[in-house]
Amino acid sequence: MDLVCPLCNGLKNMEVSCMNCGEKMKDGGLVSDYYDNYSPYLPISITGKIDGRPSSECVHLFYCPQCGKDKRIAVEKEIL
Ligand SMILES: [Zn+2]
Ligand SMILES: [Zn+2]
Repeated sequence: MDLVCPLCNGLKNMEVSCMNCGEKMKDGGLVSDYYDNYSPYLPISITGKIDGRPSSECVHLFYCPQCGKDKRIAVEKEIL
C-alpha cells in the first residue's frame, strides 16, 4: 500500500483557472523541484520542511502561461 500523488503519477489532471486572467494554468511540477533551483531566493518558511503539513499532500506549483501568475496547490495523495 502506497500513498502516491495522482498528479505526479499521471493518474489525474487538475484543472486550475488563473485567478488573475482566467486562463487555464499549467502544472509546473512539484514545488520541491523548485527548491534546488531557486532556494536562495525563497523565504526560509517555504524552503524548509513545512511545519504541520501532513505528508499525505504533494504541493504542486501551477503557473499561468498567459500572465505568469503562479499558485501552489496541495494535492492530496491517494492510496494505490
Ligand atoms: Zn505530486
Ligand atoms: Zn493568468
